[in-house]
Amino acid sequence: MTIQKRYPQRVRNELRFRELTVLRVEKPGVGFRRVVLGGEQLDGFTSRGFDDHCKVFFPKPGEHFLPPVVTDEGILWGDGPRPASRDYTPLYDASRHELLLDFYIHNDGVACQWALNAQPGDTLTIGGPRGSLVVPEDYAWQLYVTDESGMPALRRRLEGLSQLAVRPHVTAVISINDAAYQDYLAHLDGFDIRWVVGHQQERLADALASLSVPAQDYFIWLTGEGEVVKSLINHFETLAIDTQCMRAQAYWHKK
Ligand SMILES: Cc1cc2nc3c(=O)[nH]c(=O)nc-3n(C[C@H](O)[C@H](O)[C@H](O)COP(=O)(O)OP(=O)(O)OC[C@H]3O[C@@H](n4cnc5c(N)ncnc54)[C@H](O)[C@@H]3O)c2cc1C
Repeated sequence: MTIQKRYPQRVRNELRFRELTVLRVEKPGVGFRRVVLGGEQLDGFTSRGFDDHCKVFFPKPGEHFLPPVVTDEGILWGDGPRPASRDYTPLYDASRHELLLDFYIHNDGVACQWALNAQPGDTLTIGGPRGSLVVPEDYAWQLYVTDESGMPALRRRLEGLSQLAVRPHVTAVISINDAAYQDYLAHLDGFDIRWVVGHQQERLADALASLSVPAQDYFIWLTGEGEVVKSLINHFETLAIDTQCMRAQAYWHKK
């Protein structure tokens, strides 16, 4: 039997900037802070790819931030200072019409600090997602390699795959700083999740070496820290992988 090759498809979304209001703050896991957002400007929000991202803006305290205007000619920024921005995975709950952002609480950083201090009634401006990569859910063999920064996207993906009548074979190799962070995915079962605790590169490499990618009908997703992602790409390039069935992206850089 020949299996038809299906590749992930890129789709464009209408770019919109939205000022949203913090409805509540939750703790979806030991290492994470969840900020639940809503408001009129959430109307029309769509996100079709599990690893979509929104640009999230963090003006300095007291700084008035006017989001840019989207025109046919491009994005027009006003004269004021441009605030810091970071990328976060949108977890949209259509049934409640709420947008959830799960922030991994690492040591430092404007986003991390904002999430720690967020209170109901605060506002947050987001842009996008501008485009999505729609990855078919039924590849027979799927591998997800990430660290804490990709766990929200992975959670979104696994929750989606859990709904399928026929589950594909899914392995996730997740590098985490602390074993306690596993609780973020504890509600998901039926997936082969392998944890590498302590961000040990050698143990991550060993975990990957123990896997064999089938000849066809697979999807590989690699995210995390920039240098780590580079080494993951190198590993898979030696295996003559069809790169259209592999998605690799640095989610943050060690400074
Ligand atoms: C497409 C995409 C989706 C993403 N989705 C999410 C998400 O849903 N949730 C999430 O938590 N992150 C997500 N990230 C990663 C997030 O954007 C970065 O971690 C970001 O740098 C955090 O900003 P900050 O202001 O807290 O720290 P920064 O100001 O960027 O960095 C401050 C210090 O912290 C270090 N640092 C930054 N990120 C991490 C980290 N993850 N672990 C350890 N040290 C770090 C930096 O090296 C630096 O030393 C995503 C990134 C991308 C590209």
